[in-house]
Amino acid sequence: MNAPPRPTARTPLLSLDAAMADLLSRVQALTAEETVATFDADGRVLAEDLVSALQVPPNDNSSMDGYAVRAADVTGPGVVLRVSQRIAAGHEAQALEPGTCARIFTGAPMPEGADAVVMQEDTIEVGGNIHGVHIQAVPEVGQWVRRAGEDVTRGTVVLARGQRLSPAGLGLAASLGRAHLSVKARPRVALFSTGDELVMPGEVPPEAMKPGAIYNSNRFFLRALLHRMGGEVSDLGIVPDRREATIAALKTAADHHDLILTSGGVSVGEEDHIKPSVQQLGSLDLWQIGMKPGKPFAYGSVRRGADASGLCHFIGLPGNPVSSFVTFLLLVRPFLLRLQGVPLELSQALPAATRLPAHFNLVRADKRREFLRVRRNAAGGLDLFPNQSSGVLTSAVWGDGLVDNPAGTTIAHGDLVSWISFADLLA
Ligand code: AMP
Ligand code: MG
Repeated sequence: MNAPPRPTARTPLLSLDAAMADLLSRVQALTAEETVATFDADGRVLAEDLVSALQVPPNDNSSMDGYAVRAADVTGPGVVLRVSQRIAAGHEAQALEPGTCARIFTGAPMPEGADAVVMQEDTIEVGGNIHGVHIQAVPEVGQWVRRAGEDVTRGTVVLARGQRLSPAGLGLAASLGRAHLSVKARPRVALFSTGDELVMPGEVPPEAMKPGAIYNSNRFFLRALLHRMGGEVSDLGIVPDRREATIAALKTAADHHDLILTSGGVSVGEEDHIKPSVQQLGSLDLWQIGMKPGKPFAYGSVRRGADASGLCHFIGLPGNPVSSFVTFLLLVRPFLLRLQGVPLELSQALPAATRLPAHFNLVRADKRREFLRVRRNAAGGLDLFPNQSSGVLTSAVWGDGLVDNPAGTTIAHGDLVSWISFADLLA
């Protein structure tokens, strides 16, 4: 086996941009597609263009409860018009008799001949033998009328192949009459944690934890992040720090998954079973990425067994919880989107940043590009979580985003910095 040179402290750092480009160049979109109910398609990636077979709304309709009129009939405030028909939403309208108005409700079709709606609040009912209304405000043509097709015109691509569906997207698809949608298959991801120090919550109570033991926190957020990004997760739990166990886990996982994701065991000098095991079954590159947190990162592939063909992607995240969390958001997220057929450009791998003033000082510049956990404050600036250690997961819960700070850069109070929101990184 031709092992690549073991990274040492002198291994040159790979820039995040270069790592991203390399990682994304290895992904080919999965070809499998399936049909799902529109109800169940939130977060899924469309495998078809949705072309509208109708216009939305289908006809001109009122956006207010009030009276449909021909604007020209209301020559001045105080005109009284007879009410010649009543039109509720979902019911048909007759052509408007000239010189009259129609009682109309929100969403009801405009009668032919009417060109404006006077809202109920601008009218007074007139009793007696004619049922009429006093129109107190002169309407403009088109007032309170929703035009046919103002949302969607017939024949347009309303949602495109490769687009990820949001709750609003589901509503839009439904407004076109679509009960089912063709979507890309979910990437099948096998997740496992490494580390003999790890204990699952629930197995041992806090007071009985042995010295050196810690709870497995990465497993929880990685599993949730994978679900959010559209993955179908097989959670293989904690794989013991033993070569045979690691190889066995990798072998089984490769046959039935598109990606194997692990956390831990990729640091320099680690007593590490991931590296030789993946190398034995395929190939592995251990990268030292010039980013903080999250320097160690591994990408590789594992050959599938006889009854399955091809390669399964392998990504090894660092064990430190914040490193694991941040490298997932910055690197695994775009990888999974590409795998599902989202036409993500390299320049879009990170969501767009917003320039905001730092309300803190960073006096010690790091030689790596740093992703600081920060939170917007009421004054429109950013506060820094005081402890930026890669083991302090509280920073990621407290924060609402990351400052993307270039390598070797200090920050003074008031400097404009680039803020990337967690909300965008989780979408
Ligand atoms: P490693 O990358 O395996 O050297 O781990 C780096 C640090 O992260 C060590 O302090 C580990 O104990 C910790 N760590 C590794 N895996 C996990 C996990 N699943 N949950 C919480 N901490 C972890
Ligand atoms: Mg470890």
